[in-house]
Amino acid sequence: MSGLFGIVSKNSCATDLFYGTDYHSHLGTRRAGLSTIDNGVMHLNIHNIQNSYFRTKFSDDLHEMAGNMGIGVISDTDPQPIVVNSHLGRFAVCTVSKINNMAELEEKCLSQRQQFTELSMGGTNPTELIALLITQGRDFADGIRNVYRSIKGSVSFLVLTEHGIIAARDFLGRTPLVIGRRGTDYAVASENHSYINLGYQTIRYISAGEAVMITPNGIEQLVEPSNKMQICSFLWIYYGYPVTQYEGISAEEVRYKLGSAMGKHDDVDADFVSGIPDSGVGMALGYAIGKGIPYKRGIMKYTPTWSRSFMPVNQESRSLVAKMKLIPCSSILKGKEAVFCDDSIVRGTQLRDQVKMLYEAGAKKVHIRISCPPLIHGCTYLNFSASKTDMELIARRCIEELEGGQIRNLEAYRDHTSKQYATMVEKIRQHVGVDTLKFNSLEDVCDAIGLPKEQVCTHCFDGSSYDVGTLAENQLKMDL
Ligand code: SF4
Repeated sequence: MSGLFGIVSKNSCATDLFYGTDYHSHLGTRRAGLSTIDNGVMHLNIHNIQNSYFRTKFSDDLHEMAGNMGIGVISDTDPQPIVVNSHLGRFAVCTVSKINNMAELEEKCLSQRQQFTELSMGGTNPTELIALLITQGRDFADGIRNVYRSIKGSVSFLVLTEHGIIAARDFLGRTPLVIGRRGTDYAVASENHSYINLGYQTIRYISAGEAVMITPNGIEQLVEPSNKMQICSFLWIYYGYPVTQYEGISAEEVRYKLGSAMGKHDDVDADFVSGIPDSGVGMALGYAIGKGIPYKRGIMKYTPTWSRSFMPVNQESRSLVAKMKLIPCSSILKGKEAVFCDDSIVRGTQLRDQVKMLYEAGAKKVHIRISCPPLIHGCTYLNFSASKTDMELIARRCIEELEGGQIRNLEAYRDHTSKQYATMVEKIRQHVGVDTLKFNSLEDVCDAIGLPKEQVCTHCFDGSSYDVGTLAENQLKMDL
């Protein structure tokens, strides 16, 4: 995923930038970077955060981050921000992106005698590509439209210029950006919880496809919003820090509603409900009220050293971390029938290990309840590290098994009222090794979020999708 943060102030921005960026640490595990501008001079610091916290790595750099404006990023992919000197002036850019046509765009740029300097995990750095696409425009607005027209996938980005920060949200708004104000200071962020303790209050959500210039004198629109939105539903289900709001809708509230909807219609007998930390907790609290049974902590996270919610990219280390950071509470579980709520099932291997731990700790029966439908399609719009390919998904593998080694009849497996759906869920249940298993429906997810379905991306559940490049090309044609 990755998270962005920026500050525009009349005073030094370093402290706010440091804490605001740090509050996005749950969105990435690889790299972090800060850039400030001070009288036309750009300062840049990038560190690897794979084995250390953002604060530990950046606290010694704070005194170098001079200036009243700055941008920061917690990146799950490439080193960033990238600093560029171009006909548009000197600027720094950081991105949350997934570019599916990297090779095609790279080739096009090279054939136009442009070059790339940064390497990222053995290839071209996607943020450098975005910087290059911006510089192909007559001005920043034109460059941003060029980014929207060119990329297939998604990208939201911040551009630090001498005059202010440009905040551009993905053409279909898959990833969010929000602006907060404290007196004459502005913060712009992926998640609005990041500036609450710094004293900023949310004044506006940037719309899908919109780009604004934020200066110490106010906010000016550079690019008008697009006429469609497809914000990622998984932000509310899993990615988002619970107190965050997207489009004014709280992640914690949505998780609570998903639990309550499940609890109201669940006919299982259980002594209590628990949440698998952290993202299953909100759902479990809602389930307890919906079902009318107590909430208890049957499994707990060892928070002193395992406080980050994301996992290492490597599957082996991910399984080990998942196992080590959760501890079952045998005094609560012994001889009891328990419901456990979780956000989703991706490969199913971690949940299988966790369920085994619960039985070993003495649980008589374990019932798993999942806040969203089975994941049938891999995400092609975000760097959702846990589901790189369709065939890694447990639901897909079960469908393949049920269909004699082929992937077919997906429409039927997506329909939660069908016989095929029931047999797929039963297969997943056997794989996880649990007494009973239930998923919320897509309707439950859309009801809990409260936005019309066509404004929310649900591709990983139902395969629906838009070709952003073509949509952007059509809508932005007049601006060419
Ligand atoms: S495919 Fe799933 S994870 Fe990816 S943007 Fe859409 S809803 Fe989010």
